[in-house]
Amino acid sequence: MKKNATEFLHKLTNEDVTNMIGANAEDIQIISHLNEILESKGMTQKELALRSGLRHATINEFVNMTKKNINIGHVIQIMLTLGLKELSELFEIKVEKQVPAFKFCSDCGVKITYKQYLNAGGVCESCKSKY
Ligand SMILES: [Zn+2]
Repeated sequence: MKKNATEFLHKLTNEDVTNMIGANAEDIQIISHLNEILESKGMTQKELALRSGLRHATINEFVNMTKKNINIGHVIQIMLTLGLKELSELFEIKVEKQVPAFKFCSDCGVKITYKQYLNAGGVCESCKSKY
């Protein structure tokens, strides 16, 4: 049972994953709490850079979330330097629009993606072609 679920997940393409979460890039918000944490500790970005060994520019990218690719090594350096225990203290990732992963064809009951469901008016491709 567990193995099947894993196999299923491994077969998913990026498009499937996008369909599952039903979200575009703009629906996903990455919120950084780094500035608030620094303020609460009375620490500047420059100070954090010196203490963590990261570049000031890197710290600033984490404050403003100007980079979409997050280096996990840098995240750990920041967490260790600030004494953070949970990643959620540093970042929040919000998927604004949530839609069901899959729907079922209203004619034959076969499983279809939400995108297909919307495009074909509630039926699968083969049922759609029957009309
Ligand atoms: Zn169908």
